[in-house]
Amino acid sequence: MRARVAVLGSRGSAADRSATEATGRLSPGRLAGSVAALLEFLLPAACAACGGSVEEAAGSGPVCRNCRLALPAVPLPVCDRCGAPSGTGRAPACLECADWPGGLRGARAACLLESPARELVHALKYQGWRGAGLFMGEEMAKRAGPAVREADCVAPVPTAARNMRRRGYNQARVIAGALADALDVPLADCLERRRQEGTQTALNPAQRKANVSSAFALAPGGGAAVEGRQVVLVDDVLTTGATVLAAFRAMAPAAPVGVFAYAFARTVPLSAASDSGDEPSLPELR
Ligand SMILES: [Zn+2]
Ligand SMILES: [Zn+2]
Repeated sequence: MRARVAVLGSRGSAADRSATEATGRLSPGRLAGSVAALLEFLLPAACAACGGSVEEAAGSGPVCRNCRLALPAVPLPVCDRCGAPSGTGRAPACLECADWPGGLRGARAACLLESPARELVHALKYQGWRGAGLFMGEEMAKRAGPAVREADCVAPVPTAARNMRRRGYNQARVIAGALADALDVPLADCLERRRQEGTQTALNPAQRKANVSSAFALAPGGGAAVEGRQVVLVDDVLTTGATVLAAFRAMAPAAPVGVFAYAFARTVPLSAASDSGDEPSLPELR
């Protein structure tokens, strides 16, 4: 197990310190802040990816300098539209995005789903390290191309209710929020997850695909947030593109000008099958 330090509060501000100096006493809130600062000083926070110490914060999130610099790039060349790495022997036409509708402008990921990106995704999704998502969203902003930088709003892919109950948050929304802040555009919660009956594992591949295609719907009032806008659709991981397509179709009745999917990390098409085990009951969705 990796050692972890919960951040209990912020470091005492200059105003706090001067107030303390003036009165000679600490209020309970200031005391808690001071204790947190002392803990941070004594026990440097662990990196969400490698467990090493995060000695110097170079941005948000508990991620060490080495891991910040080590995110693996998606190997070039990639498909102009969907960003899938080519060289899978299926060229010349890209089969990943051949049947995408025109409004689905394209897709990209900030990095490849390999170490340390894989560990960060896992830490956010299964270990409650929400702070990792802040780093992921900020990193996405740094690596964003024009289609993302010129967007009007950022929309997270919704997660299933049972995942919300287990995690307490939607990991895609944590990432999308950090990206929206960095881009200075609104976060648009325009989609919701449809409740799906039964277990996916009992379905054959065709039934499973049909289930994915109807997994999302416009949230009540969600259409107004994306109508007439360029939307960046955000998820933690991009695998087959089935999730992107399903989310786009659910959003389409609200008439966004265009939708561009942007994930923190992506699998390469050939490894998609082996990398899709994150959501055991919904293997096509992650
Ligand atoms: Zn690290
Ligand atoms: Zn493509």
